[in-house]
Amino acid sequence: MNDLCIKILEKRGIKPTSIRILILRTMFGFDRAFSMTDLEYTLETVDKSTVSRTIHLFLEHKLIHSIDDGSGSIKYAVCNDGCDCELDNLHVHFHCRKCGKTFCLENIAIPGIKAPEGLFFESVNLVIKGICSECLKFAT
Ligand SMILES: [Zn+2]
Ligand SMILES: [Zn+2]
Repeated sequence: MNDLCIKILEKRGIKPTSIRILILRTMFGFDRAFSMTDLEYTLETVDKSTVSRTIHLFLEHKLIHSIDDGSGSIKYAVCNDGCDCELDNLHVHFHCRKCGKTFCLENIAIPGIKAPEGLFFESVNLVIKGICSECLKFAT
């Protein structure tokens, strides 16, 4: 796992320090998108400013992407290998209104929307809301 993390970091042009490897490993441990608070909670021993700085570094290098799911806290998820976060590379996200978890729907691309004249699109955030499969199990 550490070797894999080092490879991924280097590929994105990030120097693989032990703290960055630890944080990336923690990110891979989530089965859903995570918030800064989720990371801080799991990485109790790491100080908060380091967590926040690392998130920003990873974002800059497009190792992770951010998701505004409307819950009030920004979520993050690790990008797929080869993702460059360009418009034609973005996918839809799903937010469960019962458990509040947010997931990447990597196989559903955001439909191409043509910018009206005079506008330049930089990013799109498409979040579908509903109930996840785990919560549906308990709903019936
Ligand atoms: Zn749920
Ligand atoms: Zn995603």
